[in-house]
This record gives sequence, C-alpha cells and structure tokens, in this order.
Amino acid sequence: MLYRVQRAVGAVEHPRSNRFLAALPPDDLAVLSPHLRTVLLERGVILHEAGGDIEQVYFPHDGLVSLVAVMRSGATVETASVGRNGIIGATAALGSRCAFGRAVVQLPGTAAWIPAAQLYAAAKESNAIRDLAVRYNDFLIAQIQQSVACNALHALEARLCRWLLQTHDCVDGGMVPLTQEFLAQMLGVRRTTVTIAARVLQSAGMIRYRRGLVQIVDRPALEKATCECYATVRQNLDKTLRPSPVHVTRCYRGLQGESLGAI
Ligand SMILES: [Zn+2]
Repeated sequence: MLYRVQRAVGAVEHPRSNRFLAALPPDDLAVLSPHLRTVLLERGVILHEAGGDIEQVYFPHDGLVSLVAVMRSGATVETASVGRNGIIGATAALGSRCAFGRAVVQLPGTAAWIPAAQLYAAAKESNAIRDLAVRYNDFLIAQIQQSVACNALHALEARLCRWLLQTHDCVDGGMVPLTQEFLAQMLGVRRTTVTIAARVLQSAGMIRYRRGLVQIVDRPALEKATCECYATVRQNLDKTLRPSPVHVTRCYRGLQGESLGAI
C-alpha cells in the first residue's frame, strides 16, 4: 500500500540531529522550525512513489531511506540513499513536486516532517534554505551518477561492502537489520547471489549474519574491500553540507550567547 499512515509523535525537539537542518544558519532554521513535526518511519513505508507528487518532505534523524528505480516488472534497484545526513524531497524547496523515483524506508527511525508547500514558502523567504536545497540536489545527482558507474563497473562483493558501510554509518555502529531479500532488491540482483556474496564476507571475518541482522565485525576490512564509490560519496556529502563562511560567523556569535543544541 502506498503512503501508509505514519504516526506523528509531536513537535521536533532536536532539529539539528539532521545534518541538512544543522547546516542552516539559526535565523533560517527558525523559519522552518515552527512547521516541523516528528514522525516515525516504519520499515517498508513508501514516502514518495515514482511518478507521484511530493506532498511531504522528510529530514531523517536516524534510520535510512532508499531512493529506488522501479521497472515495469516490479524489479527495483537502489540509486541513492538518505539518512540523517540529508533530505527526502529537496526539489520541493525549488517548486518541483514530481517524484521521479520511489523513496522507501529501509531502516526504521524518526524524521522531521514538513508539508512540501510550507518548505517552498520558507525557501522563498530564505536564501540559505534555497541554496542548500540546490546544493543537496546536486549532491544527489552526483550520488546517482556514482551508483550508475558502480553498478556497471564494480564487483558485487565491493558493492555489498559499500552498501553495508553506508548503512552502518546510519546506525551508530549498532547491528544492521537487513533481510537478504531486501539487500537483493537494493543491489538489483537475485537473492541467491546476495547469499553467496554475504557468505564470502562472513568467511573473511568482516561481518556476522544471523536472523535478519548483520553485525559489522571488521569495519577496516570492509573499507579496504569496498570500491572507491563509498569514499567519493562521503566526500561529496561533506562538501555539500559544509557551512558557508557566513554560517560559521553566525554560529560563532551564537555560541557566545546560547547553545546550538544537539548537532
Ligand atoms: Zn563502486
């Protein structure tokens, strides 16, 4: 079912636990804050359907959302992922409401939520919101480009390592709840192929896999075994979310007078 009802859990207490929101200068975040609400994102919920309209925009505090391409056969492959480092539906800030891919919750968590129309109105008031949305969209295009190259050129084991690392980044070093069927959908391969690749990583002592949970046992080994794409995407993201000099000055002034809250 599309757009399953998500449970609202109240006002946003720590908007800066999302890095997109944290990258905004305080005055610009204040434009958004009154309209942000927290929602629980349950695994498998579709936030935006391919070809549908973007009605809501999400800023995850934790968990992970995959952007996937959907074929007529129903087959899917992940083209990008968004965790607490990003925003789902950034184009709405620029007035574009068309969702070209499906956004589906892969790891459950919570997110700040805002109606798309409200974000558009805020972006018209705030250059910083608009500029960051443009930069984030550019990053998303770069991430998708990297995924295209990765899927075409890199071995499945390396891609699986990359996928586990980026997912591990979103769970603060904890266990990664994954089924092999879900992994197969994300990587665009058969489930049996994922099983074989996961066994290779487990035999090498990099992961432990049991009952839908993956434990990262040797992260340095995974980082060595993955392809260049993992580091490239991380570097691009850091560049995207780097505060502008104006923001740094404002934050410094803010730190002199008040706490910035949890970032
Ligand atoms: Zn790659």
